[in-house]
Amino acid sequence: MSVKFADLNLDKNILSALQSEGYETPTPIQAQSIPHALERRDIMASAQTGSGKTAAFLLPVLQHLTRRSEKPGKGPRALVLTPTRELAAQVEKNALAYAKNMKWFKTVSIVGGSSFGYQIRALAKPVDLIVATPGRLMDLMDSGKVDFERLEVLILDEADRMLDMGFIDDIEKIVAETPEDRQTLLFSATWDGAVGKLARKLTKNPEVIEIERVDEQGKIEEQLLYCDDMRHKNRLLDHILRDANIDQCVIFTSTKAMTEVLADELYDKGFAANCLHGDMPQGWRNRTLMDLRKGRCKILVATDVAARGIDVPTITHVINYDLPKQAEDYVHRIGRTGRAGRTGLAITFAEVNEYVKVHKIEKFIGRKIPEMTIEGMEPTRKRSKSGDKPKGKGKGGHWGGKGGFDKDKKFGGKKSDGKKEGFKKRDGKAADGGFKDRKKSAPAGKGKQGFKK
Ligand code: AMP
Repeated sequence: MSVKFADLNLDKNILSALQSEGYETPTPIQAQSIPHALERRDIMASAQTGSGKTAAFLLPVLQHLTRRSEKPGKGPRALVLTPTRELAAQVEKNALAYAKNMKWFKTVSIVGGSSFGYQIRALAKPVDLIVATPGRLMDLMDSGKVDFERLEVLILDEADRMLDMGFIDDIEKIVAETPEDRQTLLFSATWDGAVGKLARKLTKNPEVIEIERVDEQGKIEEQLLYCDDMRHKNRLLDHILRDANIDQCVIFTSTKAMTEVLADELYDKGFAANCLHGDMPQGWRNRTLMDLRKGRCKILVATDVAARGIDVPTITHVINYDLPKQAEDYVHRIGRTGRAGRTGLAITFAEVNEYVKVHKIEKFIGRKIPEMTIEGMEPTRKRSKSGDKPKGKGKGGHWGGKGGFDKDKKFGGKKSDGKKEGFKKRDGKAADGGFKDRKKSAPAGKGKQGFKK
C-alpha cells in the first residue's frame, strides 16, 4: 500500500495546506526523505527537479518549526541555499503555501537584485526560514546582519549546481557560521566529484536516498534533430514552432546574448516570445516569469541558469536550440516540461559536427535520445568527429535570406560567447537598455500570431 501524507506524522495545519494544494500522495522522494528528516537524520538525496524535492525538505522543516526553539534570539531556525534567485523564489513560494495555516511562520528571501534595505529590516525581526542565494547571504553576513546562533536545519538545494556556479567558498564560509549540531539536508542531481566530497564533509551519518530519475518515468518524450548549420537550425525551429501543438515553450540557448537575439527574431516573426537571462534586472526577470505563468508569454528563450527552478505546468515543449555545455544541464532543461504529472516534448538540435557532445549527454543520461528528421528538411552534411565548423557558408544567420544576421558582426566583432562585454556591444546599448527597448515595443502576449492551443 502506498504511503499517504496522513501517515507521515505531519501537523494538521500542514496536512490541510497540502490538501488545498491538491497533493494527494507523497512523491517517492517525499515518501523516502520525510520520515528520516523528521527523525532529525542528515540526508543526501539524489533528486531531480520535478520530483517533488522541495516539499521533501520543506515539510519536515515546517513540522520541526511547529515546536518552539530552545535557543533565544531572532535568527533563522532553518536556511535553504539555492543556486538561483528563481529557484529561491520558488522555494519561498512553496514554503508559504505549505505554511499557510501556520500564521506565525515568517520567511525571508535573501537574494541578489532585491533591496538590501528590505532584507536588513526583515532580518532585524524574528525569522523562521531564510531562503537564500549564497552571494547575497554572504554580503549580509559580512555586515553582521545574520545571526545563525539558533539555526537548526541547513538545506542545500541543487548542491551540484551551486558548485558548478562557483559557490563552494561561499558555502563553506556560510556553513562555518552555523551550529555544529544542526541537521543537514542535501539535494543534488549527482554526488560525483566535488559535490560528493562537500556532502561528506557537511553531513553526519547521512541517510542516502536515490530516486528514479523523473525523465525515466516516461513523462517527457525526447527527440534529437541534426542540422547542417545555423540557417538549417532556424528553419527547423520555425517549422516546429508553427506546426507543433505547442502551448508554451522554453528554448535554451548557450549565451545570454543569444537569448535576446533569438527572442527578438521570434517576436519579429510574430511569436509571443520573450527572453530570460542573468544580466536582466531582477524586476524584469520577475515580470517575464509572471508573463510565462499567466500564459502571456508563449515562448521563453532562456539560459540554463536563469531557467532553473521554472515550474510552469503549461510548458508543453522544451527546445534545446544550443546543446547544453554540461551533460547534466540537459536533464534540468528538459525537466521544465512534463511538470505536475503532465507530458512534455523535449527537442534537441545538434549540428552534425556536434555528435560527440550528443554522445556525452547520452552517456550521462544512460540512454539514446531518439533521432528524428523532418521530411524535406533532413541534414545533408556528413558527421565529422573533429568538431570543426562545417565548410561552406560558415556564418549561418537567422531565418535565412535578407533578414539574417551575421552573428560575429552583431556582437561587436566577437563570437557570441556570452561574455557581458560582447553582450553590451549589441547595438551600442547597455544590456538593460537594449532589453527594455525590446520589451517596450514588444509586450508579452501581443505577438502577431501565437500558438495553436
Ligand atoms: P519540485 O520537484 O519540488 O520542483 O516539484 C515539482 C512540482 O510537483 C511542483 O509543481 C510541486 O508543486 C508539485 N508537487 C510536489 N509534490 C507533490 C505531490 N505530492 N503531489 C502533487 N504535486 C506535487
